[in-house]
Amino acid sequence: MKIISLLGATGSIGTQTLDIIREHPDEFQLGAISVGKNIDLARKIIGEFQPELVSVQNPMDYNKLKGEYPHIKFTYGDDGLIETAVYDKADILVNAVLGSVGLHPTLQAIESGKTIAIANKETLVTAGHLVTEAAKRHNVALLPVDSEHSAIFQALQGEKTKNIERLILTASGGSFRDRTRAELADVTVEEALNHPNWSMGAKITIDSATMMNKGLEVIEAHWLFAMPYDKIDVLMHRESIIHSMVEFHDSSIIAQLGTPDMRVPIQFALTYPDRAPLKSSQRLDLAKIGQLHFQDMDLNRFRCLHFAYEAGKAGGTMPTVLNAANETAVAAFLSGKIRFLEIEDLVEKALSKHKTITFPSLQVIQEVDKETRQYVDSLV
Ligand code: MG
Repeated sequence: MKIISLLGATGSIGTQTLDIIREHPDEFQLGAISVGKNIDLARKIIGEFQPELVSVQNPMDYNKLKGEYPHIKFTYGDDGLIETAVYDKADILVNAVLGSVGLHPTLQAIESGKTIAIANKETLVTAGHLVTEAAKRHNVALLPVDSEHSAIFQALQGEKTKNIERLILTASGGSFRDRTRAELADVTVEEALNHPNWSMGAKITIDSATMMNKGLEVIEAHWLFAMPYDKIDVLMHRESIIHSMVEFHDSSIIAQLGTPDMRVPIQFALTYPDRAPLKSSQRLDLAKIGQLHFQDMDLNRFRCLHFAYEAGKAGGTMPTVLNAANETAVAAFLSGKIRFLEIEDLVEKALSKHKTITFPSLQVIQEVDKETRQYVDSLV
């Protein structure tokens, strides 16, 4: 029996992690969760899974829930997230919170020796050097949950890193893959939220439409697999059937395929190095699909992907700026304050204003993160 601590239980990855726990009651137990503002869903989760520890975002909800469930321990805020991350009985931390708020809890969980199933890509983007160094020092496994990185991780089982020629991340293209830049000027929030293949949270769906999601994933892959940026390529693949590939020096390519279902990579992280059946997942029928399509990425069309490569290569605090500017700009777009193409304008402005600081500490990263958010907010 593996005991799981789950940060971000009410989000898209969180609820799909609960599906996996529900399907394998003899293998997994939910020990601790953090939730945001969706208290109705939190009540349902508490009722069904009876976790020992629950962290909520604000003190008001903390006081409310504490009265309703006297046998459960509650906590709140940033400290609550950390307390949940290091929950002593947990074997695995699934970090599925959104944004760079996931960084500090991840580092603390690594210090306390937990295996980390990482769905919070912003953590690796913002502080990849700190996270991977700490994981190495504490001999802690960082297991990817993102479908592309899980695919690469699966393709690398039994392989040696030194034999890799390049990683090939596939990209569906997001909601606006068939539109020209001119056609993007007046798109609405509703149109941007309509992803062709994957059902995901709002922030990542917008990131898919701008291609920033793939940019963040390139940086995530750089850290998870210790690969230089010139060995990480992105390939447009409309059907999202091949979830990513690894090319080796002998020109062999190993790919991982499946229907687009996030529960598969989530479950692989939880069962690793084993596998388990996943009854509710639809099997891939290649004959029925018939054809798969591929296309080179146009970095002029998808400027956020270009920015991400540049920020990643610059290193230091530059990826922190990329991520913080993007989080702030996407929030402004979702609340109707800016137009779609202004997301990339704001990211570009924040990047060109910043002078990168090499080997930043956690404190420096948090300062740069905050300054960038303030700067982008002032432009909004
Ligand atoms: Mg992904």
